[in-house]
Amino acid sequence: MESAQLSFVEFQRFIAERYGEKDGQRGVAQTFLWFMEEVGELASALQKSGTDNSVDLEGEFADVLGWLTTLANMKGIDLTGALQRKYLQDGGRNHKA
Ligand SMILES: [Mg+2]
Repeated sequence: MESAQLSFVEFQRFIAERYGEKDGQRGVAQTFLWFMEEVGELASALQKSGTDNSVDLEGEFADVLGWLTTLANMKGIDLTGALQRKYLQDGGRNHKA
């Protein structure tokens, strides 16, 4: 998977294929805790970035997006469609669906 060619559809499919079975065994509630732990790591990285060169800010953004995508897969949410409907169609971000 070439990063320059990665689409959100491809990423969501990759997460489902790579982690779907294990995610299903863990369940939504436990997966949400993992997601929140990653959000906490991102918060910490944001706070330290600029002063601590060991912080992997990019990696923490990727972790949060990865776990959010996992949760979407578990609930049958097509993130590409959701983003298009919520932010791109019919006036974009201010549109109330
Ligand atoms: Mg992390």
